[in-house]
Amino acid sequence: MSFLWTVSDLMAAMHGRPMGNLPEGITGISIDSRSIAKGEAFFAIKGDRVDGHDYAGIAIANGAALLVVSEAKLPALGRLTAPMIVVDDVLEAMVRLGCAARDRSAAKIIAVTGSVGKTTTKEMLRHVLSPSGRVHASVASFNNHWGVPLTLSRMPENTDFGIFEIGMNHVDEIRPLVNMVRPHVAIITTIAAAHLGNFKDLGEIASAKAEIMEGLVDDGHVILNRDNEQFDTLEKAATALGVAHVHSFGSSAKADFRMVEFAGGAEGAVLWAAIGGRTLEIQLGAPGRHIAENALAAIGAAALVGADVDAAVAALATLQPEKGRGARYRLPIGSGSFVLIDESYNANPASMRAAIALLKDTELPEGGRRIAILGDMLEMGEFAGRVHAELAVPLVEADIRDVWLAGPEMAHLRDALPEDVHVEYRETVDELKQFALGSIAAGDVVMIKSSKGTGCGRIVAALLEKY
Ligand code: ATP
Ligand code: MG
Repeated sequence: MSFLWTVSDLMAAMHGRPMGNLPEGITGISIDSRSIAKGEAFFAIKGDRVDGHDYAGIAIANGAALLVVSEAKLPALGRLTAPMIVVDDVLEAMVRLGCAARDRSAAKIIAVTGSVGKTTTKEMLRHVLSPSGRVHASVASFNNHWGVPLTLSRMPENTDFGIFEIGMNHVDEIRPLVNMVRPHVAIITTIAAAHLGNFKDLGEIASAKAEIMEGLVDDGHVILNRDNEQFDTLEKAATALGVAHVHSFGSSAKADFRMVEFAGGAEGAVLWAAIGGRTLEIQLGAPGRHIAENALAAIGAAALVGADVDAAVAALATLQPEKGRGARYRLPIGSGSFVLIDESYNANPASMRAAIALLKDTELPEGGRRIAILGDMLEMGEFAGRVHAELAVPLVEADIRDVWLAGPEMAHLRDALPEDVHVEYRETVDELKQFALGSIAAGDVVMIKSSKGTGCGRIVAALLEKY
């Protein structure tokens, strides 16, 4: 049996107090009593809505080998007898354990931040580095004050490549997280209007993202997006922080990882990239120019951490679009079929544009329509009206003639679209869902996107259930 942590290492890292009959080690770490596996430790984290201490008994019943609980909550655990490590604060103990995981590791560490594309790039890195060694990466978008220490604590000692998604909604959030992760390579995918409600402008967002460079190891590398309007701001920040190596990706002639040419198709794409003095022809298993941009950063990072670049490039051919981020379904309808592109995971102006471009690149059967089903982008603050109305520009450029909208903010887009576009507008997502269920026809290509909180994922689910 190989342990993720022996209990003596756990105790040393967390400074806890043992209670009960502790096992020799644990095979994993979980903060969710529903999905915990036998032999794992359950950390009773207090979240916004639930307190893990309330689920400690269930975690034990489901096979947890031990509990990590806070001293103050002991009385609330009542008569529960289980092996426990009692700490001052469970989250702080997990942070200490995460730091111990980093200290004991010889892995090359890559941290990914940016306004969009973090998870896409992180999963791409997982995929392209796998042929070169053992990869450990964040689950889903576990990128915040608990997601990052949890991912670190879970990193096996024999990891070759550790990949961490780091997110933020406000300034000073990335700094403590990256100081735990201490990456060799940091990637900033792009700066765009996300959580704009919390910031004055894009420059402020760039400064907050620049915090990721503060945690780099001494001889570290940063990879920046040359095509992004905030590139100069980020490059200046890198110089001011004394970052050892600054690299860039993009289609600019000055980019180190450069897009020479891109040919988009419906099911995938081909990217010609100049990286490290070579021009590579890269087949991408997932379509979209934004995927190709992320791929430049990922291949660049793979080269910097000493991975097999040719194997990394070959792996991109078998890349699959992530659920909610471009996943495609061909569904039977009547005597034909229609294509559903699920972009419902989340939305902001940058990813809306990327998804509209994706819809434009799809093949359209005779008589079919390209339909954009769009719901509100949230957290846009005072800019909300403007950024919704401005989506008319890429929609017209892409010649999307059928635009179905839901949500109060999307009324701004409805009013901004020209008359020759067929617009359906409903106040709520559920009304639009009802309309969509009765209105899609054979040959259509339908792309669905909104912020997570708006819930256009419900339209995707309803279509998948019906067809
Ligand atoms: P979150 O902050 O919610 O964790 P994220 O930064 O991890 O988001 P992803 O989940 O990778 O972002 O992607 C979110 C959306 O942005 C998806 O629709 C995806 O297709 C799109 N996207 C991914 N990469 C880019 C990019 N480089 N430019 C524009 N859009 C992108
Ligand atoms: Mg994410």
